[in-house]
Amino acid sequence: MLSRIDLRGLTPSPAELRATLPRAEIDVDAAMHQVRPIVDAVADRGVEAVLDYTERFDQVRPGRVRVPREELARALSELDSEVRAALEESIARARKVHEDQRREDVTTTVTEGGTVTERWVPVERVGLYAPGGLAVYPSSVVMNVVPAQAAGVGSLVLCSPPQAEFGGRPHPTILAAAALLGVDEVWAVGGAQAVALLAYGGTDTDGTGLLPVDLVTGPGNIYLTAAKRMLRGLIGIDSEAGPTEIAILADETADPGHVAADLISQAEHDTLAASVLVTTSEALADAVDAEVSVRAKATKHSERVTTALQGKQSGTVLVSTVEDGLRVVDAYAAEHLEIQTADARAVAARVRNAGAVFVGPYAPVSLGDYCAGSNHVLPTGGFARHSSGLSVQTFLRGIHVIDYGPEALREVADKVVALSVAEDLPAHGEAVTARFGKVAEEIQ
Ligand code: NAD
Repeated sequence: MLSRIDLRGLTPSPAELRATLPRAEIDVDAAMHQVRPIVDAVADRGVEAVLDYTERFDQVRPGRVRVPREELARALSELDSEVRAALEESIARARKVHEDQRREDVTTTVTEGGTVTERWVPVERVGLYAPGGLAVYPSSVVMNVVPAQAAGVGSLVLCSPPQAEFGGRPHPTILAAAALLGVDEVWAVGGAQAVALLAYGGTDTDGTGLLPVDLVTGPGNIYLTAAKRMLRGLIGIDSEAGPTEIAILADETADPGHVAADLISQAEHDTLAASVLVTTSEALADAVDAEVSVRAKATKHSERVTTALQGKQSGTVLVSTVEDGLRVVDAYAAEHLEIQTADARAVAARVRNAGAVFVGPYAPVSLGDYCAGSNHVLPTGGFARHSSGLSVQTFLRGIHVIDYGPEALREVADKVVALSVAEDLPAHGEAVTARFGKVAEEIQ
C-alpha cells in the first residue's frame, strides 16, 4: 500500500534527501490568497463577517459567537465520566511536565557594577485554537491551555469551530475541557476568521467585546495556517502546526503490527497527513505493508486513512544502515518521530531534527497525542529544523534588563566609542562621552 523509495547504497546530501522524501504539497502561500478576503472582511466588518464565513464553511450561523459561561459549566456536568477522568489525567500529566519548564530570571555580573538580567515575562493576552473540522480536539485545548497557564498568562481566549449539530457551539467536549481548565472565554469561530477575529478583536451580536490578543497558538488546517502566516507581526504566532506527520525509524527488531498501527493512527487525522517508514529491513517493510492493508480497511476512518497513506506524502524509505536512517529522518524533520530499533534510546539521543521523539516499542505517538505529559502541538512540514513545539517558553518573552553604574560604564566607554565610529554612528559614542564629566565626578 505504501509507495517505496530505495536509498540503499546511496548517500544523498540533506538537500537531495529533502527533494526526494515523501511530503505533502501544502501550498500555504496559495492558501494565503484564498484567506486574504476573509481576513480583510473580518478587519472591516468584525463579527458580521465572521458569521458570513461561518455560515459558508461551517454550515451554521449561530446567534452569537461567544459561548455563554453557563454552557461551559453545563458541558462539563454532562461530560461522560470516563472522558472526564481521561482529560483530568491528561491535564495532570501535562501540568507536571510544563510546570517544570518554567524559567528563573538569570542575572549575570558582566563586570563590577554592571549586570544584565534576563527577565521572563508572560505574554499578556493569548488566543488559543482547538481545531474542529474533520475531527474535534479537546486534547488540543489541554495542550494549548496548560503551558499558557504554567507561563502565567493572565488573559486567555479559546476559539474552536462551531458545529452545526450542536447549534453553532463548539463540540461539547471542547467546552467541557475549557471548563475543566478554568478557561471561561470561548468563541465559536474556526479557521482564518478565528485568527483574524483574535488579531483585530470585535464585538459580538449582543455587544460583548473580544479584545485583540498578542499571540495566537494552536494547530489547524491550511486555512488557519495561512491566516497565522499572514497576520504574523500584528500578532505573534507559534510554529506552523499543520497536517500531522509520523516518521518511524525501524530495523528488523520492530513489530510490524505496532508500526502499521502507528502509521495508521496519524493518517486518521487528515487526508493530507503523512505516514513515513524509514527502515533497514525490507522484510519489515513487506510485513508492515501487509498489516497496513488489513488494518486500513478495518479502521473507522478507512477512506481518510487510505487516501493519506496512498498520498505522495506517505511511503517507505529503505536504507542500508540505521546511521543512514538517521540522516534521512534528520533531513525529513518530522513532527513526530518514533524510534523502533535495537538500542532505541541510544539512536534517539542522536536525532537532531524532530518535533518530538518517541523511544522504543511502548511509546506510540498516540500516547503523546493525549497522555504522555508532552505537548502535541508540534511543528510540521520540516519546520522542526528550526522551530519547537508548544511549551511554556512559547508564552514567555525574555526581557534583558541592563543595569550599569558609572565605573562600569567608564571601563568600557572607549570600546563603545570605537565601535560607534566603525559603524559610522558617532552619536552612539557621543551618548556615552556626554556622561564622562558626570561619570568622572561621581567616580572621584
Ligand atoms: P480546523 O479547525 O483547522 O479547520 C476547520 C475550519 O476550516 C472551519 O471552521 C472553516 O472555517 C475552515 N475552512 C474549511 N474550508 C475552508 C475553505 N475552503 N476556505 C477557508 N476556510 C475553510 O480543523 P481540521 O480541518 O480538522 O484540521 C485540523 C488539522 O490540525 C489537521 O490537519 C490535523 O492533522 C492538524 N493537527 C495538527 C496538530 C499539530 O500539532 N501539528 C495537532 C492536532 C491537529
